[in-house]
Amino acid sequence: MAAPSSFVCVTCGTNTPADASGEAHSTCLICDEPRQFIREGGQEWITLDSLKANGKHSNVFTPTKADPENMISISTTPQYAIGQRGILIRTPKGNILWDCITYIDDETVARVKAYGGLKAIVISHPHYYSSLKEWSEAFDGIPVYTHANDKQWVQRPAKNHVFWEGTTLDLLEGEIKVLCPGGHFDGSTLLLWDKNLLVADTLMVAASRKSVSFMYSFPNYWPLPPNAVKAIWDSVRPYKFDNVLGAWVGKEIVGNGRNIVYESAKLYTQYSGHEVAKYYKADAEELAFN
Ligand SMILES: [Zn+2]
Ligand SMILES: [Zn+2]
Repeated sequence: MAAPSSFVCVTCGTNTPADASGEAHSTCLICDEPRQFIREGGQEWITLDSLKANGKHSNVFTPTKADPENMISISTTPQYAIGQRGILIRTPKGNILWDCITYIDDETVARVKAYGGLKAIVISHPHYYSSLKEWSEAFDGIPVYTHANDKQWVQRPAKNHVFWEGTTLDLLEGEIKVLCPGGHFDGSTLLLWDKNLLVADTLMVAASRKSVSFMYSFPNYWPLPPNAVKAIWDSVRPYKFDNVLGAWVGKEIVGNGRNIVYESAKLYTQYSGHEVAKYYKADAEELAFN
């Protein structure tokens, strides 16, 4: 059997190239930095092939609450590594996968193809780069979009990898819009489709599903400064979205999403000891569409 060309980090699920001698690296680029962590016991790797061969994991397709017909969560059970979902978005102009997961097998590919396949994959930030190359290859090498600000974290680019630049990206003739307010990562992005804002870790849908948070590191509890939070609000402010979909199955705010993001941004600013009025205009002005 040929030596593996890549190894999956057990903690974050990133599929990482082998080092020059064909072995796994001593540490994971994604975990060994302040936003992530190396688990107690040290760095561990597995391969995607052995993950498939052990037969313990599979992917489940769960209709979202926000739009059960047209937005389907794809996640691995039992939960693997960070445990995020990808969201299959079915638009009249074709399907997109928002964010990516480590596990992929023939059954997953067949199910996505039964929904009409994929035109592209858009990934919010480095924590979810996972098995992007394998996912792209499984769908005839479709383009994978990640923001150019995070290029240094892409260790195994797809054949048709697009490092997009700037603050907005239109896909499928404007059907889908991707925004890059930064914050959690310099290239952290959000996706807008229909009445939905898909947020990954750029905003974190809270356990209550009545608020969102904004963090540099979620596992290590490092906050973002108030100007970074304001930049996230400014980026979504022009858009009429109702629902906010987070990175895990069930983490969804259904209805009133734009107001909730705004109120959460102010609350975060206040609770971190800053003057709200220094960052935000009057509510009516902030919430107006202009
Ligand atoms: Zn890792
Ligand atoms: Zn993250």
